[in-house]
Amino acid sequence: MTASLQPKASHYVGGQYVEDTAGTPLVSTYPADGSTNANLHAATPAIVEQAIAAADAARAGWAAMTGSERGRILRRAAEIIRERNHELSVLETRDTGKPLQETLVADAASGADCLEYFGSIAAGLTGEHIQLGADFAYTIREPLGVCVGIGAWNYPTQIACWKAAPALACGNTMVFKPSEVTPLGALKLAEILTEAGLPDGVFNVVQGFGEVGGALVGDARVAKVSLTGSVPTGRKVYAAAAADMKHVTMELGGKSPLVIFDDANLDDAVSAAINANFYSSGQICSNGTRVFVQSGIKDRFLAELKRRTETATIGDPMDEATNFGPMVSQTQVDITLGYIAKGVEEGATLVTGGKAHALGGLYLEPTIFADVTDEMTIAREEIFGPVMSVLTFEDEAEVLARANDTDFGLAAGVFTRDLARAHRVVAGFEAGTCWINTYNLTPIEMPFGGVKASGVGRENAQSAIAHYSQLKSVYVGMTPVEAAF
Ligand code: NAD
Repeated sequence: MTASLQPKASHYVGGQYVEDTAGTPLVSTYPADGSTNANLHAATPAIVEQAIAAADAARAGWAAMTGSERGRILRRAAEIIRERNHELSVLETRDTGKPLQETLVADAASGADCLEYFGSIAAGLTGEHIQLGADFAYTIREPLGVCVGIGAWNYPTQIACWKAAPALACGNTMVFKPSEVTPLGALKLAEILTEAGLPDGVFNVVQGFGEVGGALVGDARVAKVSLTGSVPTGRKVYAAAAADMKHVTMELGGKSPLVIFDDANLDDAVSAAINANFYSSGQICSNGTRVFVQSGIKDRFLAELKRRTETATIGDPMDEATNFGPMVSQTQVDITLGYIAKGVEEGATLVTGGKAHALGGLYLEPTIFADVTDEMTIAREEIFGPVMSVLTFEDEAEVLARANDTDFGLAAGVFTRDLARAHRVVAGFEAGTCWINTYNLTPIEMPFGGVKASGVGRENAQSAIAHYSQLKSVYVGMTPVEAAF
């Protein structure tokens, strides 16, 4: 075990680490070799109570501070994260198995961007004034109260920041439950926020499996739940939140289309397909896993895609030359191998990959299927592993109908040099986040989220503010009050 990865305790509540060894054991392991990063415990009901009580108690004081004061703390936390980016990236790699080459630029770094962004706009959050003749009205932007954040395991630090930063900027407090698979990054964020001056109890972390998430969602003191996870979990959490009419943000799964027309720049389209399927070993919600290629470019596209995919550097995630690491868990390996077997069984053509990698353990080969049809299981269900399905199409109307023929609606992309067609296709996509001639870029300045079964609400950008605050409308009568009698 790497001693330095063992946190002082499992949970962070009221500005300090707390433990309850009665909780179910929860082990963080390094996916690259199975070694133990840290031994933790899931939260007991006593810890859940302590965390919600701490967030509730901190609410009034935090909300009473000015936006400038709150923003300064968030921006200071962003600075600390940037100063410690290397150490935090190593931690993220140990927790997730993602290559250091990725975590150095995509995880803590994007969390810092998020804290900086919301720290910068906190002072400018306002209501509005509405003149009504001699009378007028105004709105007050109020925080919601105690928010619960629940994370997935693929971007543990980024997800914690994407939820905490807008919530805290608006004057809410938060209890965050990381995925049981990747418990470490959120604890570091809590430590750093304290160091940056965050009052105790404003951001708390409790560990645990689904039942701890369920206990948090069911607590009457909680005003809002923001979940990043799968659609089945989303349905449960949304239903539980509805009982108390809680606000929700749901960032769920996808089976997103990436449409490549004959006139596309071939190299860029291949790069995008690789990024859209094999970054983070394919464990990204917005991945473009249904790659629709127009028939005229298909053979050249597949040849180049296969050639480049077979040059992936697969190995030790801590080696900065590695650009494809292990899967996060044996569960995810088994799920992915199951889908690969289905692809073969249902008649798709295996272009490359298709099995466990020679390195063994949790390593898989990046896998590409061609001649995939719309009804095949690998074209319909989210795999969340490095499996790309290539489908062929003839014309625009056809591909748009096929791209939208799914319950999911998280993301979509199009490659073409025809400007009008690009915008027309994007307008037709039933997806919350779209890209033209690129894929999977999610800067903090751009709203992110899904439609249909992929989610409710938006994270990032100004739009997140609407999901972490509510308006109180105040009508001010300046004239005599008229009555019928
Ligand atoms: P998951 O749904 O299994 O778990 C997500 C989180 O919910 C975990 O913390 C889990 O402990 C918790 N949970 C499970 N059951 C719960 C319950 N009944 N009540 C409350 N909490 C509960 O998802 P996962 O396997 O951790 O992550 C992969 C999924 O997340 C994929 O479907 C992926 O597409 C999705 N995802 C979406 C986004 C996005 O922004 N849209 C980002 C990353 C991942």
